[in-house]
Amino acid sequence: MKSKASKRPVVAVDLGGTNLRLGLVTHQGRVVARSRAKMRSVTEKDVLCDLLAEKVSAFIERAGKGRVPGGVAVGFAGPTDSASGRVYFAPNVGGLGDFHLAEAMESRLGMRVVVANDADCAALGEYWQGAGKGAKSLFLFTLGTGMGGAMVIEGRLWEGSAGIAGEIGHTVVDIDGPRCACGRQGCLEALVSATAIIREYRKHRRRQTDMTGVTAKSVFQLARRGDRVALRVVADTARALGIGIANVYLLLNPEVILIGGGVARAGTMLIGPATRHARAEIFPALRDRLTVKRASLSDDAGLVGAAYLAYQRL
Ligand SMILES: [Zn+2]
Repeated sequence: MKSKASKRPVVAVDLGGTNLRLGLVTHQGRVVARSRAKMRSVTEKDVLCDLLAEKVSAFIERAGKGRVPGGVAVGFAGPTDSASGRVYFAPNVGGLGDFHLAEAMESRLGMRVVVANDADCAALGEYWQGAGKGAKSLFLFTLGTGMGGAMVIEGRLWEGSAGIAGEIGHTVVDIDGPRCACGRQGCLEALVSATAIIREYRKHRRRQTDMTGVTAKSVFQLARRGDRVALRVVADTARALGIGIANVYLLLNPEVILIGGGVARAGTMLIGPATRHARAEIFPALRDRLTVKRASLSDDAGLVGAAYLAYQRL
């Protein structure tokens, strides 16, 4: 943010498996324009890059009134190395693997592009403008269809040596637990994600016929109304999440742990009991210092954090 040019708004992109979100973000972290589109299924890298470049260009025309932005920042749903802009694997975006998204986008758009993992972007967003503002270190759990994680340490995103640090969803918390999509058994993701909540509810309700339309949200709603099966599923989910929180606290000892993503909208019903479980799992003398909060930027976290990265790097 030294020169005038670097204060120009940045186009931030949040690219997930089903949704594509775009935002124009100022250097003060405000999202001043937004756009959202459904992602059509894409199984070729070139087609994905063409589609993305087309959407970004159209957004610049419309929201940026054609003015050249300071750069483009993409938060991508898959393990990504932000230093090189390389996507390792995109299980939720056409199953695509190993390509240099930043380079491909730069050649199409003729401007600088930074690419990072979407959970990393969300953590930076919460650090810059959200529930992690003012904290020197934080860890963010993103609870959605799957589970991601990311950390900011001493004000910097920590991506690890190859860019995949924070994959808390694929750490094992139950060695005899359910098989995870990654191949391991008893991963946190296999116990706490929306997919896991729906699976467990269906399993315990197997004698009842009408299971159409069951979502993680509806399971939480049922639990609020006192449904015994839903209450049990929520209690089990909170317990597993509590173990995950305790593991993160013991490994990294961050100042604050944030819970974000769609499943976090269950709010205190999940986060309260999970925090109590986590406290019971860590050293007694440290229990009061564990701080767990709900992330506050919701869907904007990824856009704001991607822009933060762009302002830092471009
Ligand atoms: Zn796994």
